[in-house]
Amino acid sequence: MSAFAQETLVGDFSDLKPPLSEEEALIEADRCLRCGGVYATAPCTVACPADVDVPTFVAQVAAGDTGAAALKIFEQNILGASCARVCQVEELCEASCVMNSQDETPIEIARLQRFATDWAYANGIAPRKNAAANGHKVAVIGAGPAGLACAGELAARGYAVTVYDERAEAGGLIRYAIAPFRQQSEPLPDEQKAIEKLGVEIKLGVKIDTKEALAEIEKEAEAVFLGVGLGEDVDVKTPGDDLEGVWESLPFIEALKDGNPPEIGRRAAVIGGGNTAMDVAREALRLGAEVTVLYRRTQAQMPAFYHEYEQALDEGVVFNWLTLPVAFKGENGRLKSVECQPMKLGEPDDSGRRRPEPIEGADFDLPVDTIIKAIGQRPREEFLSLIDGLELEWGQIKINPETGQTTNPKYFAAGDAINGGATVVSAVGGAKVAVAGIEAFLQGEKR
Ligand code: SF4
Repeated sequence: MSAFAQETLVGDFSDLKPPLSEEEALIEADRCLRCGGVYATAPCTVACPADVDVPTFVAQVAAGDTGAAALKIFEQNILGASCARVCQVEELCEASCVMNSQDETPIEIARLQRFATDWAYANGIAPRKNAAANGHKVAVIGAGPAGLACAGELAARGYAVTVYDERAEAGGLIRYAIAPFRQQSEPLPDEQKAIEKLGVEIKLGVKIDTKEALAEIEKEAEAVFLGVGLGEDVDVKTPGDDLEGVWESLPFIEALKDGNPPEIGRRAAVIGGGNTAMDVAREALRLGAEVTVLYRRTQAQMPAFYHEYEQALDEGVVFNWLTLPVAFKGENGRLKSVECQPMKLGEPDDSGRRRPEPIEGADFDLPVDTIIKAIGQRPREEFLSLIDGLELEWGQIKINPETGQTTNPKYFAAGDAINGGATVVSAVGGAKVAVAGIEAFLQGEKR
């Protein structure tokens, strides 16, 4: 990268995947080969965790029937408008598009999905219709992507659903933890309204942190869906944590999304090698800093998607592999540098990855004005421990993958709380599995 590329990004907080004009959408949709048929599903649909029928909706866009295209998307994914912005299509549908094998650019499925779903909201089209009420009540804890998708789908099938969330706004990680250059807030308010129109009651600002509060919910509902996601940043203590200029990733992203971008100075370092680390590094570039990612392992071991790493690199992020930050140093309470311990790879650890080991005597100080720690998020074990019989594995809720049912039969779950943090669309896909599981559980009870 080039300093030029970074310069053009500074102060640019616009969408990573901007909307298509109508003309652009028609031209792009017309390139699609409409793969698949009676005997084989199109590869782009196979790759979609929410099962969106891509060839059909793209053909509808090409035919100028944008409303029908949107309804086709919403049929499988009520959060289709948000997913169009935040989905990792470079790993999913667009990676599977047959155009790749013909050395052509894959169809821009996400931007076409955005075109159709935005058009639907702008034209007052309701994403789904209700079935007749079936008399069953379900509670959903968490108004993130898994919770909203579950609630919307259940309501469309005739269930009475109440969603509880401790935050002031719905959307979970889409609203609070995904970088604003992917999605600021829109179209979450439209999606929330559409789900409420289906009859879902969304109770925000409600903290469920006692057995009594949980018992109240259990008394009201015949099944409970857990879409609680993950909690705060992993608590890795480093000397100098209290210096001004040291941030954790979630408060950093939240400040950006709330329109209060931090003063980060000229040099920023991001600690971590996951997708959140890539997001905050790229946001820090846009705030005008030179950004270095410090990661204690190598590029081959980093958990971020490869395309996220490549895009960060392309925008000008510098990567220091095999580098462990051991102390933050400052003056008058303000961060000045980070002491780094170079590492080498040793024998494999429990995860099967070669363990990084310190190279003695090789420490160095890297001058920085801001540090953002993006090491991962903690599971919500404290809350989950309130639920009788709920088993966890590595902090993640154990479920039957075919039904989403947990080890407490009344509870179902999906999303980051069961997988430790994956994509928004996989949370939607998991929620759909749980909806079918809840339906079978409740109808079975009735029988
Ligand atoms: Fe269209 Fe690509 Fe899907 Fe084929 S694989 S239907 S070309 S989007």
